[in-house]
Amino acid sequence: MSRVFTADWVLPVEGPPIEAGAVVVEDGRIVAVGPTDDLGEGTRYDDAVIVPGFVNAHSHLEYAVYAGFGDGLGDFAEWITLHIQRKDRIGWNEYVDVAKLGAAQSLASGVTTVGDCSYSGATAVACAELGLRATVYLEVFGSDPSRALEHFAAIRDRAGDAFSERVRPGVSPHAPYSVSIELYEACAELGLPIATHISESRSEVQYLLTGTGAWGGYKDLLVPAPGKTGTHLLAEHDLLGQNVVAAHCVVLDEDEIGLLASTGTGVAHCPRSNGALGCGVAPLAELRAAGARVGVGTDSPASAPSFDFFEELRSVVLSARARAAPSVSTERSARSFPESGQTSPSCPSRARRIYPGRTPPGQWCSEGRPIACLQRTSTGKRATRKEGWIGKS
Ligand SMILES: [Zn+2]
Repeated sequence: MSRVFTADWVLPVEGPPIEAGAVVVEDGRIVAVGPTDDLGEGTRYDDAVIVPGFVNAHSHLEYAVYAGFGDGLGDFAEWITLHIQRKDRIGWNEYVDVAKLGAAQSLASGVTTVGDCSYSGATAVACAELGLRATVYLEVFGSDPSRALEHFAAIRDRAGDAFSERVRPGVSPHAPYSVSIELYEACAELGLPIATHISESRSEVQYLLTGTGAWGGYKDLLVPAPGKTGTHLLAEHDLLGQNVVAAHCVVLDEDEIGLLASTGTGVAHCPRSNGALGCGVAPLAELRAAGARVGVGTDSPASAPSFDFFEELRSVVLSARARAAPSVSTERSARSFPESGQTSPSCPSRARRIYPGRTPPGQWCSEGRPIACLQRTSTGKRATRKEGWIGKS
């Protein structure tokens, strides 16, 4: 069955914006994109723009109600120790409920795919139920690979029915300060997509290099300092690569930027989270100039204010330009992120464009959520609010 959706504008990314545009969907595939005059009126969305669904490259949906408790804390070390205490007090049912809220907020913000790091595995259940495409990276911590992988198997089993072609499992060795290199290697042997946190804060890098600084007081929560940064450590053990997404990457030197780019490692850039925790601004322009694959992530309300992807995208541009990087602009970013933002095997760049005939089954349209429809605010000036999904049958 063929359906036509039309709006004031269609932004295909694959080509120039189309005023009074239309998208034709047939049997779960986009078959035509063009002017309404050529393709017909179909279902009309007034004061709206049709865009590709967003891919949130780094989230923690199960922290949707954390309400930015990191705001105003003295150091990242203070935040993460409080975070560890809090998450152990939450039960499975609560995690599922909170993750559903996070998934709903993501969908409402135009996100159709997430790369989510999940402590409990509840994100998989939430995404399966709400129809959000996901790679759910189940988190592991510590020094002992066999103990950590037992935990991994247990949370994978608990969420087992939720995994499918649309909600795929991954593994997240949390960070080089909380995970031993042996556990990283054991995770790599699983053959799953990997997400980790790298160089989020200066104090973490200081700990990794010297075992001292603000993190020195929390050694019982950490693995021994390896004497090198996370990027160098993982590169030396051949643990960077195209199946790896590194979240944050704020504190990087030139060599590390080169390593991330040359290994094809995905970088999930989370400017609002980094700002809220006082971690700094990632060198976005330098990463992109080096050819790194950079995507955008909201992180979660444990640090960032919300899952609002539009706010995150604004912060991407503004924080980069605040670092005097005029090469990062709204239009250039809109055009280039779909190309370079393929940070995960589950987030193919073609899923971020609207073009006919080439949408494979199971990528865009099979769940009835092929494209986001953004509707204007009451001021009528900017397409900042979203209402519903086109293609839902
Ligand atoms: Zn994270």
